[in-house]
Amino acid sequence: MPNTLSIAIVGAGMGGLTAAATLRQAGFDVQVYEQAPRFARIGAGIQMMPNSMKVLREIGVEARIRPVSFQPYSHLNRTWDTGEVVRELPMPESLFGAPYLCMHRAELHDALRAVLPRDIIHLGRKLVGIEQSGERVTLTFENGMHAQADAVVGADGVHSVVRDLIVGPDAPIHKGRIAYRAVFPAALMNGFDIGRSRTKWWGRDRHIVIYYTTAARSEVYFVTSVPEPAEWMTRESWSAKGDVKELRAAYEGFHHDVRAVLEACPDCHKWAILEREPLERWSDGPVVLIGDAAHPMTPYMAQGGATAMEDAAVLARCLKKEDDVETAFRLFEQHRKPRTSRIQAISSANTWMKGGDEDTTWLYGYDAWNAPLNSTQPN
Ligand SMILES: Cc1cc2nc3c(=O)[nH]c(=O)nc-3n(C[C@H](O)[C@H](O)[C@H](O)COP(=O)(O)OP(=O)(O)OC[C@H]3O[C@@H](n4cnc5c(N)ncnc54)[C@H](O)[C@@H]3O)c2cc1C
Repeated sequence: MPNTLSIAIVGAGMGGLTAAATLRQAGFDVQVYEQAPRFARIGAGIQMMPNSMKVLREIGVEARIRPVSFQPYSHLNRTWDTGEVVRELPMPESLFGAPYLCMHRAELHDALRAVLPRDIIHLGRKLVGIEQSGERVTLTFENGMHAQADAVVGADGVHSVVRDLIVGPDAPIHKGRIAYRAVFPAALMNGFDIGRSRTKWWGRDRHIVIYYTTAARSEVYFVTSVPEPAEWMTRESWSAKGDVKELRAAYEGFHHDVRAVLEACPDCHKWAILEREPLERWSDGPVVLIGDAAHPMTPYMAQGGATAMEDAAVLARCLKKEDDVETAFRLFEQHRKPRTSRIQAISSANTWMKGGDEDTTWLYGYDAWNAPLNSTQPN
């Protein structure tokens, strides 16, 4: 593909910013269009597994987040009441060739932005239309502005407009579950230490994941999955508030360590967990989807952001390898879909690390920069 190819990325989230970096590194002319007028600091943590850290390493982001992130000793899985260890997977860097880091989402987002020139990210550009004429694609934004490019990457998340425009609208599946989440100062726990691991506490019909988000262990994060009557099924939203008393009641009877975190937590957010089936196809002509726009998943394996980043690396490789955009997008989808569909399915069932998943290498050991592109195996 000639380096003169111009690429418009819609969405400056985890996938869009990573793709901007990988595609620029491959030599392409990249512009990013984001609907938000400014970047807000979303109160949430994020786990970056070795498979995503390998992508971030090559674009210069690992060096920025490593000093500020918490590096858990292990994935620790415990029983909700007794605290019995169901499974523990130590995660030394040597195991998969990259670290396992936990951090505040804003730190990761800032680091991704820091490796990009400021003037390629255009804020306040909400995409409302895409039109192809000849070799060029025209993007139309809500404010009446337009932009043109040779190819478009839809990285606009779970409610993707690009997906609706190229493959038609799809309906989210409601399974009646919500996630509470909060980030708060560890000092509020009056000396209680949540430990050196990222811990998932498995209840009968609910769970909670708890970890530090800073190297100094100064901030605690948790995210849950709890049944909720279907009436509360609003859109997924990062800003909807939850009731901390209802949250504590939902975890009544849980182990002391869980209760200590919930008692200390001053307030929380609430997120409707919606799912979608794998899409029939991810591209149409010179327009392609990545990340949550292509393969949204439940957060239970902590792989939504990671797979969006893997997409970004593989997409750049495919565009560099092939002579035309459509062939590159087909190769991209052919390589990525088996893997992301497999992760979507396990994530939906919420069985990862609960037993039966002895082999974790296919997931965490995947290297998006070197995986054979013509392989259709799900790894
Ligand atoms: C509670 C929770 C916990 C999670 N924990 C983890 C974790 O630990 N590890 C992990 O890897 N993943 C995790 N995930 C998943 C992860 O957050 C997502 O998979 C990831 O953010 C997807 O990246 P994306 O770039 O596809 O979409 P997003 O990051 O959602 O970005 C989409 C961007 O597109 C913009 N946009 C939308 N529509 C338009 C439009 N019309 N025009 C222009 N811009 C538009 C949005 O404003 C946004 O900036 C979690 C998710 C949840 C809900």
